[in-house]
Amino acid sequence: MRAAIYHGPHAIALGERPDPTIQLPTDAVVRVVLACVCGSDLWYYRGESPHELGPIGHEFIGVVEEVGSDVRGLVRGDLVIAPFIFSDGTCAHCRAGWMPSCVAGGSFGNHGVDGGQGEAVRVPFAETTLVAVPGSGHSDETLRSLLTLSDVACTGHHAALSANVQPGNTVAVVGDGAVGLSAVLAAARLGAERVIALSRNPARQALARAFGATDVVPERGEEAVARVLELTGGVGVDAAMECVGTGQSMTTAFAIARPGSIVGAVGAPHGVHVPIERVIFSNIGLRGGVAPARRYIPELMADVLEGRMNPGLVLDFETDLEGVASAYEAMDQRRAVKSLIRIGTV
Ligand SMILES: [Zn+2]
Repeated sequence: MRAAIYHGPHAIALGERPDPTIQLPTDAVVRVVLACVCGSDLWYYRGESPHELGPIGHEFIGVVEEVGSDVRGLVRGDLVIAPFIFSDGTCAHCRAGWMPSCVAGGSFGNHGVDGGQGEAVRVPFAETTLVAVPGSGHSDETLRSLLTLSDVACTGHHAALSANVQPGNTVAVVGDGAVGLSAVLAAARLGAERVIALSRNPARQALARAFGATDVVPERGEEAVARVLELTGGVGVDAAMECVGTGQSMTTAFAIARPGSIVGAVGAPHGVHVPIERVIFSNIGLRGGVAPARRYIPELMADVLEGRMNPGLVLDFETDLEGVASAYEAMDQRRAVKSLIRIGTV
């Protein structure tokens, strides 16, 4: 089968991979319909994080082609959403709802497991990993939004939940990539009254407003902190979401968070320092991490299917499998918020 192959920094090309087959009775083979590139993929694309040479991609939706003899509740032809991590659903961590720590789990497009940026994927622990989408004849807009539930929309939701966003809150989001914009959408969905988006990019500011942002702060660093404190009467926000993973974004998040609040952090950390002084002397907590997407998908999927939200708007660049390298370039050069790779049809 054809699949995107990582050959090293800035070197991604279409190549051949063996057709996936059922290897364990708990497997399924999924034919990929839509996939996309994640901001976290850019770290290895830029050579700033290690990644094995080979298959890539951890965000996809597709159609079940085959299931193993132990798989219940999924049949050939089902449209499914794959969370970016596969998990057994039975270990202590999965049962507690923390699938990213599953003792037997892992992520797609890593350690030899097929990546989502290819024609098909062998999905381990299919029954406890995949989420079947009810209904049929879904619009392309709906399919794009369902795709974002694989990771980015769930990660934005995780940032908002981790920061304990409550109805009526004033909150702020640091980061205007797809995760940051998804956190704006999530905070608004959870009832935040005022959502401050930190972004100086006009197109992303517009998308933040479409997702529910009430204020946009184009400044960066200390100027951004001053602006947010000005907007909140010097108090700070009830919840700050850190959605980039850099030292500056973490510093900004802690600086705008009001005493007693929680910073929800979901950015893959690179050179991040947690200001323990703010934790101790201002009682500001830190929570977050890799999103348990499998836990959030059913709830968010219902909102997408009923048209209550359209997280797919973050996908502002599109190509097919042949154009996979351009999908990375567009995001790397910030010409795109998030790149869609159209691979098959439902
Ligand atoms: Zn588990």
